Amino acid sequence: MPITKDHQYYDLVVIGGGPAGLTAALYGGRARLKTLVIEKGLIGGLATYTNEIANFPGFPEGITGIELARKFEKQARNFGADFKNTPVKSVDLKGPDKIIETFRVTYHAKAVVIATGGKPRLLGVPSEDKFLYDKGISFCATCDAASCKDKVVMVIGSGDAAVEEGLFLTKFASKVIMSVIHEEGHMDANAAAQADAMREPKLEFRWNTVVDHFEGADRLETVVLKDTRNGELIGVPVDRCFYFIGYLPATELFQGQVELTERGYIPTNTRMQTNLDGVFAAGDVRQTCLRQVATAVGDGAIAGFEAERYIAEMEVFEKELMQRELPGMIYVYSPIDERSRDFLPVVREIERKYAGRVKLSLLDTYKSECLAARLGSVEAPSVVFTQDGKVVGKTRHLEPARIGAALDALVDHREPALAE
Ligand SMILES: Cc1cc2nc3c(=O)[nH]c(=O)nc-3n(C[C@H](O)[C@H](O)[C@H](O)COP(=O)(O)OP(=O)(O)OC[C@H]3O[C@@H](n4cnc5c(N)ncnc54)[C@H](O)[C@@H]3O)c2cc1C
Repeated sequence: MPITKDHQYYDLVVIGGGPAGLTAALYGGRARLKTLVIEKGLIGGLATYTNEIANFPGFPEGITGIELARKFEKQARNFGADFKNTPVKSVDLKGPDKIIETFRVTYHAKAVVIATGGKPRLLGVPSEDKFLYDKGISFCATCDAASCKDKVVMVIGSGDAAVEEGLFLTKFASKVIMSVIHEEGHMDANAAAQADAMREPKLEFRWNTVVDHFEGADRLETVVLKDTRNGELIGVPVDRCFYFIGYLPATELFQGQVELTERGYIPTNTRMQTNLDGVFAAGDVRQTCLRQVATAVGDGAIAGFEAERYIAEMEVFEKELMQRELPGMIYVYSPIDERSRDFLPVVREIERKYAGRVKLSLLDTYKSECLAARLGSVEAPSVVFTQDGKVVGKTRHLEPARIGAALDALVDHREPALAE
């Protein structure tokens, strides 16, 4: 017998409970949206992998990732957000009813924030697991450079990130050793970065090398490199090793639904909107130039705020603009446009004349850009006519007689004759 899944309904579902998702939930909850965070692992995301976050504003003495995550979670719960600890297995986000499937429950939401973050790419060499994160292998110079003062560090990689972050590390470390797989003088970074790197006296290159394995007691002590030309193993004592070999965004779930970049990130605009209506992305999963807790919470705040706005606009759209009780006339205008303003008194006159027979709504494109977009291609000033909850005509010809004739037709249940 097929198992019938439970269905639960939310205003906002946030997928991923890292800093971005928790902040989006806080904003959603505070705006009185019924909000759910679905997190498959530890609440707090990648930030919980680090013992000390020293660059999140408000904590001048630093704070552990776990403690910071607990505070984010508490604040989101205080504003009424619910939490579910389970992986999201699949989604259908294209329509107005967003569907999010977990093992046992099908969640329905009016809006979704994707905050699934990602993971730094690993090498997969022996003993790598033993030294990840606080034990010596790092992925973020911005996060960990300050703790490398006068230390010897190794950088793995030779792309733009590796070279630029390697140069940044020279401001702190006594020596930065770069392991480069290519022949001497060849890197994958842009030419300007390569030239800067070659000039930097604190940078030392190990050409034709790859990491063979790591050694150390409790912490990383030695990176054992392999010379790709002859297989020779070279032990290099270091205090820390930084990988800059790529980042894997957690976006497999969204393939074929949400637009992704070549590298799998989600492109958004500055309002965190994706290509799908009502679907927002925030934090590390987004195509962005900096992946930090501070940027993730900033994105989360915008995404939560925009989700609330989207839901409110959807309600206005369905209940007011697309109402079914009477034929409708929507005056689409912009308060900063003179022609729009000049026609407003005429619109008020029309409203008086057709009171009780036609429902008039005003739509300010300056304030409600998304609502205007939902009406299709309309520019201010124009008039849109509706019948039975559907758009039946639009015109940019603001002539009272023509508009009156169109309204008469609608009241008589005839099709209005309109020039676009
Ligand atoms: C070792 C380390 C140290 C760092 N140190 C610092 C630092 O000092 N300062 C700083 O500002 N930044 C630091 N960062 C970066 C910072 O942690 C990230 O930028 C930040 O956590 C991004 O937040 P996020 O919410 O976008 O994503 P994440 O923190 O990655 O959270 C995403 C969440 O989504 C969940 N998820 C993914 N897929 C699913 C699914 N299918 N279903 C349900 N849940 C899902 C994941 O389990 C995860 O919890 C560090 C990162 C690392 C790895």
